[in-house]
Amino acid sequence: PSLSVADLLLQAAAKYPSHEALYFLGKKTTYRELLASAQRMAGGLQTAGIQKGDRVAIMLPNCPQLVIAYFGILLMGGTVVMTNPLYVERELEHQLRDSGASAIVMLDLFYSRLAKVRGEAPEKGPLPFLKHIIVTSVQDALPFPKNLLYPIKQHRAGHNPTIPYGRDGIKRFQTFLAKAPAKPAEVMIASEQDVAVLQYTGGTTGLPKGVMLTHRNLVANSVQMAAWCYRMKDGSERFLAALPLFHVFGLTVLMNQSVMRAGTLILLPRFEAAAVLQTIRKQKPTFFPGAPTMYIALLNHPDVNNYDLSSINICISGSAPLPLEVQKKFEALTGGRLIEGYGLTEAAPVTHVNPIWGKRKVGSIGLPVSETEIRIVDLETAELLPAGQVGELLIRGPQVMAGYWNRAEETAAVLQDGWLHTGDLAAMDSDGFFTIVDRIKDLIIAGGYNIYPREIEEVLYEHPGVRDASIIGVQDPYRGETVKAFIVLRKGWQVSSTQLDVWCRARLAAYKVPHLYEFRSELPMSMMGKILRRKLHEEEAAKEK
Ligand code: ATP
Repeated sequence: PSLSVADLLLQAAAKYPSHEALYFLGKKTTYRELLASAQRMAGGLQTAGIQKGDRVAIMLPNCPQLVIAYFGILLMGGTVVMTNPLYVERELEHQLRDSGASAIVMLDLFYSRLAKVRGEAPEKGPLPFLKHIIVTSVQDALPFPKNLLYPIKQHRAGHNPTIPYGRDGIKRFQTFLAKAPAKPAEVMIASEQDVAVLQYTGGTTGLPKGVMLTHRNLVANSVQMAAWCYRMKDGSERFLAALPLFHVFGLTVLMNQSVMRAGTLILLPRFEAAAVLQTIRKQKPTFFPGAPTMYIALLNHPDVNNYDLSSINICISGSAPLPLEVQKKFEALTGGRLIEGYGLTEAAPVTHVNPIWGKRKVGSIGLPVSETEIRIVDLETAELLPAGQVGELLIRGPQVMAGYWNRAEETAAVLQDGWLHTGDLAAMDSDGFFTIVDRIKDLIIAGGYNIYPREIEEVLYEHPGVRDASIIGVQDPYRGETVKAFIVLRKGWQVSSTQLDVWCRARLAAYKVPHLYEFRSELPMSMMGKILRRKLHEEEAAKEK
């Protein structure tokens, strides 16, 4: 496909100008309006001196301004750098410095963190390349109730900042759009080479790296998803954006896909079970992708049975394993299909999904999406493995990234001949369905045995008193590493480590059974609801010092 991501919006606006493109807390935006705002954004950036290939960061929760800024940057050939609104100063500085962003579009509530990074004299300070700060406020997209704001809890301290508008390159979002030319000067985009989005990885191994996703990567992944969801109709689907759009899953499967299908993107500024249930009842989404923790939270909501959720036809769960029980219960609740898929930032992200309407397999990530080649190779010899054997999952296809930004060595380590090394251990069965075993870097080697944390976690999750469980390897003088379990118990349950030991011994070979237990009230989680084993490792390493 030679389309650029911006073409998706141009096409939708040409075909369905008065169709509702965005819905946000009572406010509707048509495709005509969305395109007009995005074109002004693009024109404004050009007037500010931003050129094709320049990086422009976005630090916003899900809201119309995010979609406007995203397509605005893409229309003028800029590269979008999605920035997690929860980033603290150190992480924000790394990402801005690494990407060399010349502008940022952000929410006023996050400004204080940027101010700290920029220092007293921004033109001489640590980020001299960052020339334009375009600040939007909650009022720009009224009604935008403050209590619904995504990261408000974490950043109450930075609330109500005084922002020196008009100084140091700081502009108001609305004024920026109002002063901009109605249309940008035309730019040529080479879909195969031009980087649409620099998407930073979670940073499990060292500092986050910028994944270069070209226009082709992103359009291809939306086309692949459209082929998978072949019963969807253009101009009538309603996409529930409860996932954050600054993460690649939401970016492709929600934002790009919705615009490609000329659907309506229903934006929620954060995931909150009650608000999601109310939105489903009133806004009747047909498509609701999510992470397993989201579906679990909805099922656990005390009033869930009082809501009519029958508008939902398709749910795609990704980013972590989907428990069978959750799948069954959520399907019974909605009457729609909830299927598991798999992907990673480096593949824009989707590479596998279970068939939505055909035969699917529980515990499997499904089949490769179209145009996607897969290999499972031996970790040591790199030889191709037959069906049934566990090895590293390799992927080749139009969605595979161009490489890591400014990191030739790291790129060469994971990308060879177009084949992406995912760092995940997987196996294919005789029907061609794939199963993820674990991440290679989380593999525990204890007394010469290979231990997969996920297998032990699954056994612990089966215990009725366990709410969350995470397994890591910790240093051990005799076995090299030994297995440690972090456990969060369900409310009202009292379970001892001895009882869990008995539970595990009955279900696992002795060498896999945890030697150490630590009970906590909660575990560190990512915004996608993934338990961060990395944080647990860091805490253990700090103790050892
Ligand atoms: P980082 O890789 O930088 O630590 P991250 O885990 O957030 O951060 P992503 O690209 O968001 O990176 O996630 C991709 C990873 O998520 C995959 O490599 C895989 O380990 C895991 N994953 C995704 N989908 C599934 C699934 N259905 N089942 C199990 N694991 C999954």
